[in-house]
Amino acid sequence: MRVYNFSAGPAMLPEPVLAQAQAELLDWNGSGMSVMEVSHRSKEFVACAAEAEATLRQIMAIPDNYKVLFLQGGAYGQFSAVPLNLAADGAPVDFLVTGDWSKKAVSEAKKYVSPRVIADESAGNFTAAPAQGSFQPGADAAYLHYTPNETIRGVEFGYVPESGDVPLVADLSSTILSRPIEVSKFGVIYAGAQKNMGPSGMCVVIVRDDLLERARSTTPAVWNYAEMAAADSMLNTPPTFGWYLLGLVYKWVQAQGGLPAMGERNRAKAEALYGFIDGSHFYSNPVQADSRSWMNVPFLTAKPELDKTFVAEASAAGLTNLGGHRSVGACGLASTTRCPLRASRPSSTS
Ligand SMILES: *Cc1c(COP(=O)(O)O)cnc(C)c1O
Repeated sequence: MRVYNFSAGPAMLPEPVLAQAQAELLDWNGSGMSVMEVSHRSKEFVACAAEAEATLRQIMAIPDNYKVLFLQGGAYGQFSAVPLNLAADGAPVDFLVTGDWSKKAVSEAKKYVSPRVIADESAGNFTAAPAQGSFQPGADAAYLHYTPNETIRGVEFGYVPESGDVPLVADLSSTILSRPIEVSKFGVIYAGAQKNMGPSGMCVVIVRDDLLERARSTTPAVWNYAEMAAADSMLNTPPTFGWYLLGLVYKWVQAQGGLPAMGERNRAKAEALYGFIDGSHFYSNPVQADSRSWMNVPFLTAKPELDKTFVAEASAAGLTNLGGHRSVGACGLASTTRCPLRASRPSSTS
């Protein structure tokens, strides 16, 4: 029996996608082989990869002056790849720090550039996004980096920051495909696949053409946007099964009515959940109302000692992985594109 798995990632996949992958596992596309055994250079796989990209372009309405790359190394790899591709050694780069992932992005970037934190929500224990207009990127910044949805503490920006001529870079790992976004506002978008799109092993990078030529000569080829764009993300062997599965998920999202329909669904789920939490005397959510994530909903029980009981009893009822992220403790809920919920207890101090 399948359970409801509330993990933020690797997250649940749509059952029709899993069923199709199962049905095609031994004989994909009439090849007499599984998709995992087919050459990535074969006509069939190249078509499968191109179709995944075309479907993603359609559902996200990605303009023609953007490249879509399917890279390895996860979102974490992009914490290094972005500075290597966009900024000279030691160049100033502006960051908005709103939680665990944006902090990690800063510490990786520090190896290559000079990060300037122009908004820092740590004083409020990461329970809000910075107010719109409360920060200003420097005109000399190579780019402005932010994390639209902080997965662990459930803090999501309700707006896209203004960055003027400074390219805006966004880690969309846990919010991509959850609703329509205007891609043209961004210089680079990246997202690890396993949160909202497919299995782990890939990171989708969407990069504006004019930013392709800025890479340092020392940038690893497999992370060099221009080189990977020129090679259709196949400079080396890509994770073919993951790419194939991403394509199936994109088709599934399209069949659901695309991102407007996903957005409606996710808004309704979030509203129902926060409404229940706020109306309860037992559960609470610490995040400021305008910064509450649609995708990851942390909650606290009234008594910390009951968190373990809650998670254990939920799990026994087939509601699994409701415990919070290992870095913060006990419980809460995370909703992914396909299905709802998981949890994290923000620690009371740091
Ligand atoms: C999970 C996550 C990451 C790390 O992704 P990997 O694919 O494991 O490298 C980075 N940023 C955000 C916002 C995440 O949720």
